[in-house]
Amino acid sequence: MAAVLVALVVVANTALTGIQLGELKLGPVLGPVADPNFVPAGAPLGQIGSDPDDPSDPWSAAAPPGGVIVQTPGPTAAPNATGSLRIPIPKNVPTGPRRVGIQAGHWKSDEVPDELRRLIPQTGAEWEGVTEVEINLDIAQRLSVILNSKGIAVDVLPVTIPVGYVADAFVALHADSDGVGENSGFKMAHGARRGPYEDALLNDIKDSYGAATGLDYDPTHITSQMRGYYPFSWSRFQHAVAAHTPAVILEMGYVSSDDDRSLMLDHADLVANLKFLSDTPRSNIFGQDLLVPAFPSRPSRPSPTP
Ligand SMILES: [Zn+2]
Repeated sequence: MAAVLVALVVVANTALTGIQLGELKLGPVLGPVADPNFVPAGAPLGQIGSDPDDPSDPWSAAAPPGGVIVQTPGPTAAPNATGSLRIPIPKNVPTGPRRVGIQAGHWKSDEVPDELRRLIPQTGAEWEGVTEVEINLDIAQRLSVILNSKGIAVDVLPVTIPVGYVADAFVALHADSDGVGENSGFKMAHGARRGPYEDALLNDIKDSYGAATGLDYDPTHITSQMRGYYPFSWSRFQHAVAAHTPAVILEMGYVSSDDDRSLMLDHADLVANLKFLSDTPRSNIFGQDLLVPAFPSRPSRPSPTP
């Protein structure tokens, strides 16, 4: 129900600064498609993607929507160098109000495209008749209203993320159950091989959410499933959040905890602070191509092109 889009811009974008930021480099003058190492959307990269936290579940890495440029190590590189992947600035960077995607975890898990079919049975936590998805959706919709009133455009997203989703920030909302009602607290994570602003987004939400709810941050139960959350995996799924879009997952608390449940539901406004947006101009987020480490190459496959 993110139908109310307010045209008021609260945060003006600053002009492009041209500052070199860490691993970022300026894009080519001719455009990525002219590069001989350009790999179009969905085409295999000849590399094996793997989540560092879960190497038992590898996949054949493919180019994200918008394609990618494979940069092999130069002749002077170290013998174990794997090169890098250059991800061009998305073509569909939003204009107008700042835009935030809020995903209600598990919402419409039965309406996924084929590449996400393994998510169909993942319907979320449940505790004494309260389902996680109702909590996720309720909070996502209330956040949407609050953010709209601040002039921020919001997409409330189901399990199926739009292909190569681009926004100024993406927050996936989930809640847990430990099955016994003992655990309490909230957790956050972001993915790997993504833009440089995800720690800033994570820390901003962590601080404001913790302060507003009084819930403890629970770093000990952050899982590889959180860090490898499928919307972060642009090399595995086309229906994922573009690598440039700062993206985090927030496990808001335990539905199995009476205290957590009421704190979650009573404080939907806390994530709506999003100081991150005023700290991080759109021109910084989308100013340059991203350069991320390549995945390990496929050892035994010859190159498909001569
Ligand atoms: Zn969940």
